[in-house]
Amino acid sequence: MSVHEATRLKPGAVTGKEYRLLLKACKDGGYALPAVNVVGTNVLNAVMETAAKAKSDVIIQMSNGGARFFAGEALPDAHMARVLGATSVAQHVHLLAKEYGICAVLHTDHANRKLVPWVDALIDRSEEHFARTGKPLFSSHMLDLSSEPIEDNLKECARVLKRMAPMGMSLEIELGVTGGEEDGIGHELGEGDVGNPKLYTQPEDVLRAYDVLSPLGHFTVAASFGNVHGVYAPGNVKLRPVILKNSQDLVMKTHKLNPKPLDLVFHGGSGTPNALIREAVSYGVFKMNIDTDLQFAFAHGVAAEVDANPKAFKHQVDPVDQKPYKKLYDPRKWLRAGELSVVARLEEAMNDLGSVGKSLAV
Ligand SMILES: [Zn+2]
Repeated sequence: MSVHEATRLKPGAVTGKEYRLLLKACKDGGYALPAVNVVGTNVLNAVMETAAKAKSDVIIQMSNGGARFFAGEALPDAHMARVLGATSVAQHVHLLAKEYGICAVLHTDHANRKLVPWVDALIDRSEEHFARTGKPLFSSHMLDLSSEPIEDNLKECARVLKRMAPMGMSLEIELGVTGGEEDGIGHELGEGDVGNPKLYTQPEDVLRAYDVLSPLGHFTVAASFGNVHGVYAPGNVKLRPVILKNSQDLVMKTHKLNPKPLDLVFHGGSGTPNALIREAVSYGVFKMNIDTDLQFAFAHGVAAEVDANPKAFKHQVDPVDQKPYKKLYDPRKWLRAGELSVVARLEEAMNDLGSVGKSLAV
């Protein structure tokens, strides 16, 4: 019996030891989970719907801007809105994931130095939740201090991980630079960036991170192997997943560990050819972020609805024959079309990642 078959989890928001079991099942089973950025309940529910339909577990995450949007763009205090928006997503998932019968991991995306107070405030919320329920509110957070010298990056990661470890929370760190930008964080790809060494993590840096962080708690690594956020024209990106393997091998040999000791994360998964996804997963990637392709899927689904019924988006009743259009402009009609389009595209991603039918939830 494989580890995957032996491991079963209660459906719901998965944190702490259960999160690490889920992650181990991914690596042992040779598959990865999609991590979807959500900005509202439509995509959030569509993600849970897809997970239930495909019998796949899933990672739900928010960027800082997505969290703010979830709370509402009109709130004047951006920091407070980012904290409350992310908290609201987490509470929604804690309440509903078990009803969908899925395991959902709760995570926040890129936080640079300016956004560290956002992460600290969310850890405060997890501490309150932990004191009340024995579970943190979030499974993990990300710090992206990859633009800073590595020792500064790791020092702050160590401080934050020390806060989270007592609750069994995990920290995702970034080493090297993911091309493109995510909510204003990152590096817009320019001319001559193809083959830029900064887009490729050095295995020595990964080893250094392992040495500093593994004694403190659980961490995952977003290592760069030429991946970029967003979808670019072919030729702008040269993916070298072998960098992931080299990092795994260096840590394994140095510390005499079992193969694939690191839990790796793939940022900028949108638009990646299937063969390269499979290769990255085979090197110990358990999480692939997918945002851009699902943003497009949602827009595409809504657009089809608008194209099919253009008058309903301009008139409450038909100007010629007075036919009422209420059923067509009801947001449930066209938002649902966006949701269903997300379900179809996310199911495809789960197929690519090999997570279909692998849910640990019983
Ligand atoms: Zn990213």
